Amino acid sequence: MPLPWYEEGLRFKCTECGQCCTGFPGYTWVTEEEIHAMAKYLKMSTRKFRKHYLRQVGNRFSLLENPKNYDCVFLEGKKCTIYPVRPTQCRTFPWWPQNLKSQKDWEDAKEYCEGIRDDAPVVPYSTIKKQVAIQENDGCFE
Ligand code: SF4
Ligand code: SF4
Repeated sequence: MPLPWYEEGLRFKCTECGQCCTGFPGYTWVTEEEIHAMAKYLKMSTRKFRKHYLRQVGNRFSLLENPKNYDCVFLEGKKCTIYPVRPTQCRTFPWWPQNLKSQKDWEDAKEYCEGIRDDAPVVPYSTIKKQVAIQENDGCFE
C-alpha cells in the first residue's frame, strides 16, 4: 500500500481558539457509546440528553448547534464544556478525511484552523495514522 501524500507528517499545533467548534453548518456525529458517556458526565439520563442536545439525521445522531452562529451546543466562549468526553470527531480534528485528501485540502483548512501553520511543529505520520484509524473504528465519517 503506497504511503499517503503526508507521509512526512504535517505541521499543526492547536491554539485552543475554539474555531473548529463553530462558524460553519455541519454535523458532529455521536455514537451510542458517546451519548452514554456525555450524559453520564452531565449527570443526566440519556433520554434527557437526546432531547436537549441531539438531532436525528436519518438513523444517526448529531450534536445540536446554535442556528444563528453555528456554535456547538457545548461551546462556551472558546471552551468545550464536555471536553473529557467529547466525541471522536472532535478529538481527531483536524485529521479529518476531507482535510487529508490532498495538500490543497490541508492548505484550505488553514482558513478555519489557525493551528495549521508553517511554523508549527511537525506531527509525525504515525500519529496522524492513529487518529485516522480511530475515526475508522468509530465510523464517524461513514
Ligand atoms: S463537543 Fe466540544 S469539542 Fe466538540 S464541537 Fe462541541 S464544543 Fe467543540
Ligand atoms: S480550530 Fe484548530 S487551532 Fe483552533 S481549537 Fe480547533 S484545532 Fe485548535
